[in-house]
Amino acid sequence: MEIINRRQRMSSVARKVRREEDKTIGLVPTMGALHEGHLSLVREARRMCDVVVVSVFVNPTQFGPNEDFQHYPRDLTKDTALLTELNVDYIFAPAMEEIYPKGFATYVKVEGISDQLEGASRPGHFRGVATVVTILFNIVRPDFAFFGQKDAQQTLIVKRLTRDLAFDTEIVILPTVREESGLALSSRNAYLDEDERRAATVLYRALRTAKEAYKNGERNSTRIADWVRSTVETEPRARLDYVSVTDADTLEKLEKLDDRPVLIALAVHVGKTRLIDNVVLNRAKQKEDVTVKTS
Ligand code: AMP
Repeated sequence: MEIINRRQRMSSVARKVRREEDKTIGLVPTMGALHEGHLSLVREARRMCDVVVVSVFVNPTQFGPNEDFQHYPRDLTKDTALLTELNVDYIFAPAMEEIYPKGFATYVKVEGISDQLEGASRPGHFRGVATVVTILFNIVRPDFAFFGQKDAQQTLIVKRLTRDLAFDTEIVILPTVREESGLALSSRNAYLDEDERRAATVLYRALRTAKEAYKNGERNSTRIADWVRSTVETEPRARLDYVSVTDADTLEKLEKLDDRPVLIALAVHVGKTRLIDNVVLNRAKQKEDVTVKTS
């Protein structure tokens, strides 16, 4: 395993792997502070690809001015130990200037699907995501890139930019990994104290209520959203930012639900921490979320 810090070194290693060794490359982009959610992506990359690259880069352009960029958890030593165990070939952990050289001025914006949900609450967030993903794809030129359903809107944006900008990369989406409590794993869970962690289970409880209502025949999206809202309101430490009920592929708002896949997504503040989660209803070949034991 090699840790690469320079963009040029990463490009040339990847070029050599592709050209001289004729091997496939899998890229798992992350911001580090790795947990089982990330590791599930890495395992699948390991299974599918000859060479696995995991990028660890806390991307400043996807954080708003009042967000947690400075405080975002960073622990490259621990991340390296975890990735070594999974037989990763390369960790790409670039310094800021390697991704954003002096005078950087070019951004990628995926129109339409970037503006609602997370995009509405975090203006500029997806411009940062689309830009860094484009840069990483250009450096590594992966055959496959792996993303988590936990960030549902991000998966749509990455798929769209891959198609629109003609990247020769297949996007692989993997299910959300959860604790037994239902809480989706997230690097930001590290911000939660014990009470908040318990309170944070309300996100998944709220989504389950919505799922149950749908199963019992509810097809009115406003009423489904109301189920989510009222469940979140039962938790005094939680404050709902948004809940949305949309077409899972286009993020179009739905009034009446039919047989199309439906994304129910929400963002909730628990204390000072903002968490997101989602479920998809009606997905034909949907893989179930994964639950892991946590100590
Ligand atoms: P991040 O480090 O938060 O940027 O996440 C890196 C990748 O891991 C993204 O594709 C996320 O969607 C994915 N990811 C984060 N949390 C989870 C989770 N609980 N289950 C599955 N994938 C996840």
